[in-house]
Amino acid sequence: MKKTMMVLMMFFSISVILTSGCVDEQSSSDTISDTGDDMIVAVSILPQAEFVEKIAGDNVKVVVMVPPGADPHSYEPTPSQLRGLSKAKMYAMVGSGLAIETTMMDKIADLNPGLMIIDCSEGIALREMETHAHGDEDEHDAEEETDADHEGGLDPHIWTSPGNVKIMLNNIYEGLVEIDPENESIYLENKNAYIAELDELDGQIKTTLSGKESSSFIVYHPAWGYFADYYGLIEVPVEIEGKEPSVKDMQKVIDEANEKNIKVIFVQTGFSTVSASAIANEIGGEVVEVDPLAKDYIDNLAKVAEAFEKGLA
Ligand SMILES: [Zn+2]
Repeated sequence: MKKTMMVLMMFFSISVILTSGCVDEQSSSDTISDTGDDMIVAVSILPQAEFVEKIAGDNVKVVVMVPPGADPHSYEPTPSQLRGLSKAKMYAMVGSGLAIETTMMDKIADLNPGLMIIDCSEGIALREMETHAHGDEDEHDAEEETDADHEGGLDPHIWTSPGNVKIMLNNIYEGLVEIDPENESIYLENKNAYIAELDELDGQIKTTLSGKESSSFIVYHPAWGYFADYYGLIEVPVEIEGKEPSVKDMQKVIDEANEKNIKVIFVQTGFSTVSASAIANEIGGEVVEVDPLAKDYIDNLAKVAEAFEKGLA
C-alpha cells in the first residue's frame, strides 16, 4: 500500500471518530415573542431572512428556522420553533429540496392551515449535484460509471447565484404583496433597490473572476454549484452526497488537484473537516473557509468571489 493511502486512511478513521455524535442541539435565538401585531414571515435559512428584510423593511418580523452555525441538511426545528409558526403569516421555502423543508413542510401546514407557503425556487431550473470527482482516467471507467452516479439528486443550494436570487426576490415580493397588499409600492421599490445592489455585486464578481473562466475549485461540501455555473467555473466536490468521501474518492480529488495545480480546499465556515485538511496536506495547499449561509449576502458573496479567485486553477 502506498504511503499516501496509509496517511489518508489514518485521517479518514480519525475523521469518522471526530464527526460522529457531535451534533449539538442548538437553541434558536429567534424565538417568537408575543408582541402583538407583528406580521411574522418565516424562512429556512439566513440568506432568505436578508432577502425578506430587504424587501419588507420593518413591516414584518422574520424568523429563521436554521440557526446560525447549524446545518440545513440535517437540522430539525425544535417543538417551540414549530409552535411559533402557528402565528406566522407566510413561510418562504427555499423550495429546492433542502432536507429541513422536505421533512417539515407537511407538519407546518398541519399546524397552521392558514399559513401562506411560497416557493422561492419557482422559476429556477435545478441543476444536478456533482456526484464524483472528475478524474480524467476515471471519467469513463466502466466500473465507476454506473447509472447511480447520475442519479445523485438535484442541487438545493440555489441562492449561491445572484441570478437565482433575483428570481427568489420576485417570489418573496409576490408573497409579501399577497399578505400585505397595502404596502405593495414600498415593497416594489425596495425590491428594485436590492436588485440594483445585486447587479452591482454581479459586475464586481465578474471583474474579480475575469480571465478565470473554466477554472476549477475544490470544495468540501458542494454548496457552490449554481455560483460556479453562473460564472463559468467548475466545482469539484470532496463530499459525495452528504457523506464523507471514501479513501478512493479522496485520492481522486488529490490527483485532480495535482494535475491542475490546485492549492486550496474550500470548506464551509464552521464545518471544517479532517479529510479536507488531509487533502490540503497531500497537495501542499491550505484549507480556506467560505460561508454559503451568511446573512449579509452581498458583502459575503463579494468576499467569497475573492477567495475563489485565489483558489482557482
Ligand atoms: Zn449545503
